[in-house]
Amino acid sequence: MPRLDNLWDDATAAGMGEPELLLYRSNLLGSDKRVTNYGGGNTSAKVIETDPLTGQPAEVLWVKGSGGDIGSMKLDGFATLYMDRLHALKSRYRGVEHEDEMVGLLPHCTFGLNPRAASIDTPLHAYVPRAHVDHVHSDAIIAIAASDNSKALTEEIFGSEIGWLPWKRPGFELGLWLEDFARTNPQARGCVLESHGLFTWGDDAKSCYETTLEIINRATEWLEARTTGPAFGGEVRTPLPPEERRRIAARLMPAIRGLISGARHMIGHFDDQPAVLEFTGSARLDELAALGTSCPDHFLRTKIRPLVLEADADPEPAIEAYRAEYAAYYDRCRREGSPAMRDPNAVVYLIPGVGMITFAQDKATARISGEFYVNAINVMRGASAIGNYQGLPEQEAFDIEYWQLEEAKLQRMPKPKSLAGRIAIITGGAGGIGMATAERYLAEGACVMLADIDGLDAAVQGLSARFGVDVVRGTRMDVISEDAVAAAYETMAVEFGGVDIVVSNAGIASSAAVEDTTLELWNRNIAILSTGYFLVSREAFRLLKRQGIGGSIVFVASKNGLAASPGASAYCTAKASEIHLARCLALEGAADGIRVNVVNPDAVLRGSRIWQGEWLDQRASTYKTDKDGLEEMYRQRSLLKRSVLPEDIAEANYFFAADVSAKSTGNILNVDAGNVQSFTR
Ligand code: NAD
Repeated sequence: MPRLDNLWDDATAAGMGEPELLLYRSNLLGSDKRVTNYGGGNTSAKVIETDPLTGQPAEVLWVKGSGGDIGSMKLDGFATLYMDRLHALKSRYRGVEHEDEMVGLLPHCTFGLNPRAASIDTPLHAYVPRAHVDHVHSDAIIAIAASDNSKALTEEIFGSEIGWLPWKRPGFELGLWLEDFARTNPQARGCVLESHGLFTWGDDAKSCYETTLEIINRATEWLEARTTGPAFGGEVRTPLPPEERRRIAARLMPAIRGLISGARHMIGHFDDQPAVLEFTGSARLDELAALGTSCPDHFLRTKIRPLVLEADADPEPAIEAYRAEYAAYYDRCRREGSPAMRDPNAVVYLIPGVGMITFAQDKATARISGEFYVNAINVMRGASAIGNYQGLPEQEAFDIEYWQLEEAKLQRMPKPKSLAGRIAIITGGAGGIGMATAERYLAEGACVMLADIDGLDAAVQGLSARFGVDVVRGTRMDVISEDAVAAAYETMAVEFGGVDIVVSNAGIASSAAVEDTTLELWNRNIAILSTGYFLVSREAFRLLKRQGIGGSIVFVASKNGLAASPGASAYCTAKASEIHLARCLALEGAADGIRVNVVNPDAVLRGSRIWQGEWLDQRASTYKTDKDGLEEMYRQRSLLKRSVLPEDIAEANYFFAADVSAKSTGNILNVDAGNVQSFTR
């Protein structure tokens, strides 16, 4: 593996104050995942500030606050605390069994009305008697820290430069241990924490940064020199070809998702990078996977251990056994007053020859959980090459997982949005109504796949920029192609884990008197608007039934499907067929909790591509006016005298997708500003 480069640029750093230098160093460290995992680790500097109360200088600890990631944090991500008060806290310390109560005292040390909450790691930084302190979770260091001979190895590699402390859950006590170590070993430049990570320190920001890199590079070099021969006992399962791996993941993911989506729906992530394939195909897979992960950050994200599944076996018995084991672990380790058992399902699923699937309540968390397990794989590779890898003792793992402070953090989490954990596909997604619907769903926390034959790149880019790249995908799909439709659902399954919401919205419009309607024009309307809606629904039913947790299908039909319109018989007839197809599907889907409803727009001129082409000219000429005249004409024609906008249709599409309409199926909702001809009866 290449060494970490020193990215420090004196010219960039020149003129920065201490807080800015701390931020600069933190962002540099966090920019490389070999230094620390996402959200893992923290950095600090002890800075002299002017105390607003006295106007006198005061020593202030700037330390990464609770939450956040050192790679992407800004200055407001640091908590600031008076050092003298932090030292004064020691007089209130009643011993390790009461250390959690110290967390409640940290806010009393806040400097400068800073609202950023101080993290549990604050004492670890405060009490090291050096101006600059880094704490990172480098894979190479944890490999040493998680090996059963980690103390001896640390001494062998670093001599007296880097010390070693046995496993201790982060908190006040560990802060005192670190202080004691640093005071009694003034020559030391840092310390390895067993099963956890690395602390390094220095007198200025740059030297602290350089020490962190140097120590990680030395550990990496040392590990590499000793890692000979195949990792994990060698390969016993050859990886399947890439397309086969994706095909199996597409089959397994909805099945797993259906089994583990209880109160909340889960989102999946598939990863078959070489490190994953090497581990999942190795001789020692079962034995090492069972040991669980080591660094607390790793297992908080990935649960105590992963579940190994065979590609061709029914996943249900294995998932049930995992749950039972998890419940037994909870019962064995629970203490008086422990929070109630949380979701007993696995987060990480390892499939030999295929790869790794992770599930979480949102896409970013599922992806990040996978990244953490790759960190854990790297740690196991290193640790088992130089000794015996050891996971964290079960009770320690439990005490962290069910720590009251962790529970309080979970309780503080905002209530999930109404479509959190839901996966939607929108056909014609790059068009006017499709995009408005995608925005509405994304704003409510859904993952969205746009399926279209045109304009996808710009649409996906625009939505990703606003809602994040994790939650938006695009797939080229012609609704009249059986293969393309099947492939799009397979992509959905691999990208997100399945589907919950299908918006059948792709459309064209055409206008011609019946005697001028060519067979080609007729067939095109029927193909896209009728057959296309059938194909998209048929594939949806197949996937939804495999998942077994219900679903919602919304057809964007048209007022013209209910009311005849002059010179548009092909379009109107095809739209009428959509509406009746929806009714038939509502009937067939009900037993499986699959709801099917129709939204009927009318005259949505703004944003619609239909209204930019021939259809506009034809309609304008039918009614002897232009675009503005048409919009005004439609407004006046409506009972409410209002224009209908894409957002109005999106709102109706949201209603039928969300649980607020859980008891509606086979319905039609007109969004046409009122039109007596389309009143349903
Ligand atoms: P739009 O043209 O902006 O969007 C339609 C999208 O469908 C386009 O992005 C297009 O590329 C895509 N599409 C066309 N053929 C496709 C195919 N074979 N496979 C996949 N994608 C295909 O139009 P819009 O106004 O957003 O229309 C959306 C839906 O609303 C259509 O079904 C339309 O009939 C219906 N509708 C619209 C209005 C209106 O006034 N805009 C009124 C009633 C009904």
